Amino acid sequence: MAVAPKKKIRNCIQCGKVFLTQEREELCAECKAKFYELEKIVVDYVKENPGVSMTEVSEATGVSKKLIQRMAREGVFADVPMGENFTFPCASCGKPIKTGTYCTSCLTRLRQETKRAAERMKIRFSDDMPIIEKLDAMAQRDFDKQQRDRRTFSNAMSKLIRPR
Ligand SMILES: [Zn+2]
Ligand SMILES: [Zn+2]
Repeated sequence: MAVAPKKKIRNCIQCGKVFLTQEREELCAECKAKFYELEKIVVDYVKENPGVSMTEVSEATGVSKKLIQRMAREGVFADVPMGENFTFPCASCGKPIKTGTYCTSCLTRLRQETKRAAERMKIRFSDDMPIIEKLDAMAQRDFDKQQRDRRTFSNAMSKLIRPR
């Protein structure tokens, strides 16, 4: 019999409210429902105020920096001209970046390491699969199979997997 995943207590990254979730949800139900509204407010503000920093956008719109960072990672600002100060940290080394999850040097390193790990685990990924999904898939597979080389893999991957 399958065991239902335990619900976890989390703090909403927008309003800070505590909520229960089984998934990797970062927003409470109310903030989730308002997500597109918040997204529009932020995008409009950045368009109208070229050169603003992420902190300024957060203060002016009331949208948390964490949520703006998530929007940036998801590519919400791809078509918005952003100033030099509109940055957030690379999820691996902390260097300021303007889009995606990792800086270009970490991305290059991660691509190589992911490829090597996939070869060791004899998994084939299509080239256009996002790196985050590959890491998730490998971590899941590793967890499922409880392979002998699990510790090696986990050590190598622990630094690479998106911090939560
Ligand atoms: Zn909330
Ligand atoms: Zn980096």
